[in-house]
Amino acid sequence: MAATEQLFDRDEAFPRLTDELIAPLDAAGSRRPLTAGEILVKAGDPQSAFYVILSGRVAIVDAHGTPKERVLGVHDEHRFAGELGLVTGQPAYTTAVVREDGEAIEISRTQLQALVSANQQLGDILLTAFMARRAILIGGGSGLRLIGSHLSPDSRRLREFLTRNRIPHSFIDLEVDANAELLLRKLSVAADETPLVVRGSKVMRNPSTLDVAAALNLVPRAAPVQLFDAVVVGAGPAGLGAAVYAASEGLSTALVDSVAIGGQASTSSRIENYLGFPAGISGSELAERAAIQATRFGTESAVPVRATRLAFEDGYHVVELDGGERLRARAVVLATGASYRRPAVARLEEFEGAGVYYAATEVEAQMCEKSPVVVVGGANSAGQAAVFLAGRVGRVSLLVRGPDLARGMSRYLVDQVESEPAIDVCLRTQIRELHGDGDLLGVTVECDGETRQLESRAVFVFIGAEPCTTWLDDALAIDDDGFVLTGADLQLTHLDPAGDGRQRSPLPLETSRPGVFAAGDVRSGSIKRVASAVGEGAMAVRMIHQYLALLDGAAPR
Ligand SMILES: Cc1cc2nc3c(=O)[nH]c(=O)nc-3n(C[C@H](O)[C@H](O)[C@H](O)COP(=O)(O)OP(=O)(O)OC[C@H]3O[C@@H](n4cnc5c(N)ncnc54)[C@H](O)[C@@H]3O)c2cc1C
Repeated sequence: MAATEQLFDRDEAFPRLTDELIAPLDAAGSRRPLTAGEILVKAGDPQSAFYVILSGRVAIVDAHGTPKERVLGVHDEHRFAGELGLVTGQPAYTTAVVREDGEAIEISRTQLQALVSANQQLGDILLTAFMARRAILIGGGSGLRLIGSHLSPDSRRLREFLTRNRIPHSFIDLEVDANAELLLRKLSVAADETPLVVRGSKVMRNPSTLDVAAALNLVPRAAPVQLFDAVVVGAGPAGLGAAVYAASEGLSTALVDSVAIGGQASTSSRIENYLGFPAGISGSELAERAAIQATRFGTESAVPVRATRLAFEDGYHVVELDGGERLRARAVVLATGASYRRPAVARLEEFEGAGVYYAATEVEAQMCEKSPVVVVGGANSAGQAAVFLAGRVGRVSLLVRGPDLARGMSRYLVDQVESEPAIDVCLRTQIRELHGDGDLLGVTVECDGETRQLESRAVFVFIGAEPCTTWLDDALAIDDDGFVLTGADLQLTHLDPAGDGRQRSPLPLETSRPGVFAAGDVRSGSIKRVASAVGEGAMAVRMIHQYLALLDGAAPR
């Protein structure tokens, strides 16, 4: 072992398994020798096996075989090699190389999943370690390399996709990295073929988001043809809540999202008011945990896949997807939430993704470095963004249209904003113009009829959201603002499938189409919060059971 190669620390990411925990793994798997130099798992390849090291040493290497090669640590006896992809089906992001001869237990991914479900203690230790390892890879910029210009919308698109789906990666900016040009020449890539996604030895040239998702096994290889008990459209907190409860209660469940698992919540750097996380949790981490739960219970998920139409054919609901696939379902949960509102400011599109952002996470903060920034909005999401950015960028100007903060923001956030010296609160102030050439340099704002210039390298916009319901056309009843009407708000009755032409009231959360439920922000009258979205997702499943009982009572299939 090279002198610089440290054993992994003994924290929750790299536990040593006891003999009792190794015993079932030994019984299920097979023993195999480890030979120095051998590659156990290669970055970019599927993670098809899990290894418990009995003797010898295995190094975990980032960017193996490249000038940027880095040993992240070394496993020795009773530690194990494997990452979250063993649960989610994603490929390996690092390479496992045997450094010292020894012996290991090798267990297939399928065998491991069965063991983890049956042995709670083992399951807890492995899942905790896998999640902690994923956080380490993300934090350390290990895994995929995205090479492009921060000014390119395609770089921004791919970066956002990788970040929001918690895919470990680093971004090599052609505008600032002196070695990037050299790297492109080495890979025989012209500048107009960027951005590149490099995984292991595989290079993708300006790929579509769907191609990257397919390479990372985030979309099923073949279109699912089976009939699902429940198809959940939208994988924000409401959709994840519905998928976890539906799958855990034995319903065959599919979950699709057009952008990323996590929805709006995954654009939040820190959610502080979600039950059970007293120190707060980042939205993307919360989403990752929920996605793992959903997968463990058997949910089939696909990202990025957009629902384009909701139909009812031959007694079943059909959700049509943008790739042409059709998911058939006995019941549907619509959890498509809402998407950010855009301010009416000239040159907005020119700077979107390169100075104008609708999320405030580490990615955006890194792009601002220590420069001053502007946050627009007077509600909780704007307050959260301001507090988060204050610790990472230069000064933050919070532009609020109203006369005071307390009108739209929770008290705890008002207190945080007001006690943060790096935040300037500008009340009765609106953004009017954006300035810059390629990079955003400043903005014009207006306060009480007077305009002034603010130096700003970025504008973070949080001015509310609109429901994602346009794809439904006239399939469902919606309110004047486009949110889906449910339950008693519908003021109509459904035909009772039990027959005799009897009518029944819609179930709570049931839409104007029997068997289609709406949960979370997309629903008219819902409380726009993570906890209430999760709660409605869970409640929708309860209603699905009731609806299926009505159906089955009428005509058993
Ligand atoms: C920056 C920010 C910070 C926030 N902080 C907090 C907080 O601290 N605490 C709190 O309680 N709430 C917070 N919220 C609000 C909270 O995130 C939302 O109330 C919650 O995410 C709503 O969940 P949802 O599942 O209903 O919808 P969403 O989170 O909006 O998820 C909907 C999902 O549906 C997908 N989708 C849309 N259309 C389609 C389609 N046609 N096909 C497939 N998929 C589709 C979207 O891509 C999205 O992933 C915050 C919101 C933001 C934006």
